Parts: sequence; structure tokens; C-alpha cells
Amino acid sequence: MRYVIVGGSIAATTALNVIRANRPDAEIQVVADEAMPFYYRALIPFLLDNSRIVDDILFTEQPTNDERVHFHHDQCIGVDPGKKMIGLASGTTCSYDKLLLAAGSSSRIPDIPGVASQGVFTLRNMDEALKVREALQGCRNAVVIGGALAGVKMAEALKRTGVHLTVVEQRSHILPFIADTETARRMSNKLCEQGMEIHSNDSAKEILATDGQATGVRLASGKTISADLILLMAGVRPNVEFLADSGIDIDQAVLTDREMQTSVVDVYAAGDMVQIHDAVIGKDVVSALWGNAVHMGRTAGFNMSGIKALVPPLLSSFNSTEIGGLPIISAGLLHTDSSHYAVYTEAQGENYRKLIFDQDRLVGMIFLGDVSRAGVYTNLIRNRISLGERKDALVREIMSALYY
Ligand SMILES: Cc1cc2nc3c(=O)[nH]c(=O)nc-3n(C[C@H](O)[C@H](O)[C@H](O)COP(=O)(O)OP(=O)(O)OC[C@H]3O[C@@H](n4cnc5c(N)ncnc54)[C@H](O)[C@@H]3O)c2cc1C
Repeated sequence: MRYVIVGGSIAATTALNVIRANRPDAEIQVVADEAMPFYYRALIPFLLDNSRIVDDILFTEQPTNDERVHFHHDQCIGVDPGKKMIGLASGTTCSYDKLLLAAGSSSRIPDIPGVASQGVFTLRNMDEALKVREALQGCRNAVVIGGALAGVKMAEALKRTGVHLTVVEQRSHILPFIADTETARRMSNKLCEQGMEIHSNDSAKEILATDGQATGVRLASGKTISADLILLMAGVRPNVEFLADSGIDIDQAVLTDREMQTSVVDVYAAGDMVQIHDAVIGKDVVSALWGNAVHMGRTAGFNMSGIKALVPPLLSSFNSTEIGGLPIISAGLLHTDSSHYAVYTEAQGENYRKLIFDQDRLVGMIFLGDVSRAGVYTNLIRNRISLGERKDALVREIMSALYY
């Protein structure tokens, strides 16, 4: 059986390992366009301030060429399901019996004047991280455009190098996908105490440049911020352009069933390039989460191996991280204006907790500071567990834990 996998990150390697373990007859070709794939993408900010070196962020088990698996450092430029073949940028082709698309997502580039100036970078892969690290030599002022999780993680790393750092976020607060207003306020305060400047409710309108070199950013509010280095961290877009003529159904991202098969037989997809069905909001949305990519890659790998598997319930919002020294775990719905939901909050010193219920079901939670046992509760959200009369006891248990 001939397998082809497009992409060399977590969705691709998870599927690869499942197929290798289950199909001794498999001949697997992996097409990955990064010179050095197979690393923990979320850790690239730590390369900027040298708090980690490249070796620290590589997958512990690096996939290598062997008699059954062959890696191509190349780019897939098209899929022809009729001929069961993919085309590569190098001019060659690969034939498949089963194909996995796991090409992830790329940085979204805001459509503003000056984005092509020197000193302006996108940052989503190792190559870009190493370029930014080099550009940081002699840099005094840096601006990060986009204050979601990846932008704030980059901002923290840049700040640690000693530059003056400003984050610009167009929404009313930073970290909109992992925090509510109160949590974001607490984390912003921490970051500002550490010397970061944050402009929320404002957006970059122009990159200012002299002789092609960026010198600053002009904001919608009219303010200008000096900068020798500007990072564009304004969201991601799924890498689906190369599928334009493939006949594979795409909405905002690739559509699959719960076996991770696309609308085309024997073509599977996993990871950031797939639109997931969010278990809480009940809608198909794009999610850019590592854990979801693992679940999807594993499910695709089993089905491609001939072992039926369904992807488990997924959430488009589920994160465990640390910002400004404060641990945070959040999942599910974080913002609710509707009186349909019951919202409970509790704060004790640096600790803050928020629980959102739909009737007797926990549908959203934020644990800031003390995150103990948070993982257990995320399962209640993911699996839409009906708590019945146990609901009030659970609220008491979670909130009172802040006091002992
Ligand atoms: C700074 C940062 C912090 C993050 N923090 C978190 C976090 O805290 N929690 C979390 O859950 N997630 C986080 N993420 C997101 C997480 O890294 C992604 O969800 C995850 O990497 C998606 O994996 P993937 O395998 O789908 O795709 P990707 O990791 O995007 O990899 C896709 C690979 O395919 C390659 N490729 C693309 N097109 C082609 C082509 N045509 N041919 C060949 N190869 C191709 C790409 O170059 C890339 O190597 C973070 C991401 C970043 C950048």
C-alpha cells in the first residue's frame, strides 16, 4: 500500500507513526517544505532570546528515512484525485493509494501599506525565527501586531532580549481566544509591570519606513510607535491554495468527516488546515491547536491503515500556557453576553476562576494562577457531560479550592 503525507509537523508525524505501527506493508512518502520540520512549533518564541536552542525544540523521536519511509524536502503544488497523484514544486510527482493532507496554516499578512519593508517579519516557523533572532542584533524598539496567544508569546520572548516592546491588538483586550476581559486585564497588568506596552482597541494602519527600512507603525487612533523590528502576528490562514483544482470540498478550511476523510475518497486531512466541528458551540470552525492536530492525525492514521476510528469531540478554544508568569488553562466558551448561561466567578489574590454553565452542563472555564485539576474539568466540557444535581457541588468544589 502506497501512502503519501503532505506536511511535516505534528498532524503529519502523528499519522505517520500510526500507519507505520499498523501497516507493515506500507510504503510511505512524506512531502514537507520546511528544511527542518519535526519540531514543537509552539516553542519557537524561545529561540528568539536563546532561552532554548534548536535541538531543545526538535521532536524527541525524529522521523528518518528508512526502507519503508522516504522524506522529500519539497512542496506539494497540486492534487489530482483522478490519477491518484500529487505534483511537487521540483517538477516530480508521487502516486498514492491513500493521501493525507496535513499542510497546516500560514501567517495572515494584514493588507496595510509598508508590510514589505525591511525589518517586518512574519513568524510561524523555525526558519523565520532564526531570521528574526539575527535581525534583533542592534534592535531597540519592536512592535508585535496582533495580541493573540502566539503574538503575546513572541512579545514576551522579544521583551526578554531587552528591547522596548509594544503589542497592538485590535480587539478590546489581548488574548481574546484564551481569556475573558478580567483574565486579560490581569495578564496585561503583569506584562505591563514587566515593561511591555499594550495598545488594545487599536490597529496598525501603516508601517512607516525610510529608504525601505521600517521605522515605526501608525495606528488607527493616530498614534505612531517607533520600531526597528515589526512582527506580523495577525492570525493564521489554512494552507489550502494548492487544492484549488483538486475537487476537494473546502469552506474556510478543508472539510472532512469524523474519520478525517475529505469529500474525495482515499484523501484524508488533519490539523490546522481542517475545519473542525466544535463540541461546545456546535459549529464548524477553524482551530489552530496542537492537541486537535494530534487527535486528527491519529484518527486519519488509523482509518488510512484500515482500522476504523472517529475523531473525539474537539474544542476550538482549549489552551494551557503561562503569560507574564501566570499559568492559565481555559476551554470552551469564554465570553457570554446571553442570560441563557449561568456564569460563576471567584478571585483570590492572583488566582481567578470562571465557570460557564448551559443548564447543568459546564460549557466554558478559565483557571488563572492556580490551575490544579483544571484538566479534569475540561473533559466535562469536551464530552458535554450532564451534571444534574451534582452541578452546585462542583461549582462549590472548584471555587472553594482557591481558599485552602
Ligand atoms: C508561536 C506559536 C505558539 C503556539 N502556541 C500554541 C499553544 O500554546 N497551544 C496550541 O494548542 N497550539 C499552539 N500553536 C499552534 C500549533 O502550533 C498548531 O496548531 C500546530 O502546529 C498545527 O499542526 P499541523 O501539523 O496541522 O500544521 P503546522 O504545524 O502548521 O505544519 C504544517 C507543515 O506543512 C508544511 N507545508 C505547508 N504547505 C505545504 C505544501 N504544500 N507542501 C509541503 N509541505 C507543506 C508547512 O511548512 C509546515 O511545516 C502555536 C503556534 C505558534 C506559531
